[in-house]
Amino acid sequence: MSASSFFANRTVVIASMHRKEEAIAPLLSAALSVQTLVPEAFNTDAFGTFTREIDRPDDQLATARIKAEAALTLTGETLAVASEGSFGPHPQIPFVACDRELVLLCDRTHQLEIVGESLSTETNYRSQTIHSLEEAFAFAKAAGFPQHGLVVMRTSEPTFKEAPKKAPKEVLAKGITTEADLVAAVKMALAEAESLHIETDMRALYNPMRMKAIAQATQDLIQKINQCCPQCHFPGFTVVQRCPGLPCRCCGAATLLTLSELYACQHCGFQHTQSFPDSLKFADPGQCFYCNP
Ligand SMILES: [Zn+2]
Ligand SMILES: [Zn+2]
Repeated sequence: MSASSFFANRTVVIASMHRKEEAIAPLLSAALSVQTLVPEAFNTDAFGTFTREIDRPDDQLATARIKAEAALTLTGETLAVASEGSFGPHPQIPFVACDRELVLLCDRTHQLEIVGESLSTETNYRSQTIHSLEEAFAFAKAAGFPQHGLVVMRTSEPTFKEAPKKAPKEVLAKGITTEADLVAAVKMALAEAESLHIETDMRALYNPMRMKAIAQATQDLIQKINQCCPQCHFPGFTVVQRCPGLPCRCCGAATLLTLSELYACQHCGFQHTQSFPDSLKFADPGQCFYCNP
């Protein structure tokens, strides 16, 4: 039994209204022999907007789950995919912006949930307070405009690093992809105030870089689906825990590098510990607290 026997010829509902199916559907159809369906009248903005008019109901994973469940309820189908992106400083390199994308598969028939993930530094995610049309053009150029869309807001909107949840909700224009629309929005804002807030539009259909990251997360999802449990053969036999402690090559002390990974099956509960997942038996002394304090 392979993963495709669980999904072949079924319909996957893609819970998106921002054309994410362009990134997700071709990959899933090819890998799992499924049909895809994008529900009409499915308003994902109800589950949070990047421009913060509506807050996300929960964390990234829980929100993806809520969207998938809502799409299943709406369509009466049994298989759905939802994706959720999150932007901010890279966890290891704080001054670099990154895009963490999750693509979640929810299968009601088999009671399965499998999550693909990608972490990409290839993102134009940025925001700025500006005072002139020239500054708007400079921002637009750096953000990959007009292939990537922009959002113009009133100045009372703080930048991303200041608690965005508390931000007032005053979008003047979003999905800006033409110079004429950009000029009009900036002029409108500058007629009201000395400065305005400009940011990248992170919705998938306005952001080809994000679309690429969603495709990468979908590839990761497919890989995880194809990892089947050695005992019951259900798809999605994935890592649930990483244990640090890879010994230093020089002194043998435990380092923070991964020593082993624990795989678990969500269907039968079978577990397997994989030692040395990165094919390394020892850590470089540069990673050791004692050899390189
Ligand atoms: Zn199993
Ligand atoms: Zn050492």
